[in-house]
Amino acid sequence: MSGIPARTTASASTAAVIATSCVEVCPVGCIHPTPDEPGFALVDQLYIDPEECIDCDACVEACPAEAITAEDQVPDGWRHYIQINADYYKQQKP
Ligand code: SF4
Repeated sequence: MSGIPARTTASASTAAVIATSCVEVCPVGCIHPTPDEPGFALVDQLYIDPEECIDCDACVEACPAEAITAEDQVPDGWRHYIQINADYYKQQKP
């Protein structure tokens, strides 16, 4: 599974609005930061831990912005987000 950012932007003059329904449905809790984690206010997208994800697709179904795509279905123009997503967790883990 690969996360494409769960993000929508209301307008250029307002802060990004992040949909979090994916966090609520993930059975293994591998989407971060969650709204109650300190980093949530600092990000403009959420990230799926590629080592913890079980590829259940629940987040894909739950996302109101259709912002999450199974890794094998990520369009060519968006594939760089696979690495961006993985890099987030490399930075989080010692
Ligand atoms: S595919 Fe399933 S396990 Fe992976 S991030 Fe989405 S909801 Fe969580």
